[in-house]
Amino acid sequence: MELKKIECVICPIKCNLKVFLEDDIVVKVEGNSCKKGLFYAREEFEESFIFVNGSVKVTGGLLSKLSVRTEFPVPKTKFFEIIKRINNIEVKAPVNVGYIIIENVAGTGVNVISVNSVNKKSTL
Ligand code: SF4
Repeated sequence: MELKKIECVICPIKCNLKVFLEDDIVVKVEGNSCKKGLFYAREEFEESFIFVNGSVKVTGGLLSKLSVRTEFPVPKTKFFEIIKRINNIEVKAPVNVGYIIIENVAGTGVNVISVNSVNKKSTL
């Protein structure tokens, strides 16, 4: 197992991470105060992780579509499963930026969140 040391720069705490790699895959991270540190390490050392973007249907809103994306990079191998889940979701307006649309999508431990907001259609 190979050990790399990096600083997580996602927030001002700047945790010192010990990243354990096996065949260029992150198998363990130590020193992170939250789960974002794990995803940061994966993003730094693995090329097989990506953000997935898409849009979901909205009912009762001023717009009929809402843009969404994974909160963190996810394994590329989960791409089609995640897109399928996103394409089958329908949400009700109003929706604000950063709402969790799908929790733990495809068992990745990562949520799909809204990128924009959609206000409710006025009934006046
Ligand atoms: S691991 Fe979490 S707490 Fe530590 S720097 Fe990264 S985001 Fe901040």
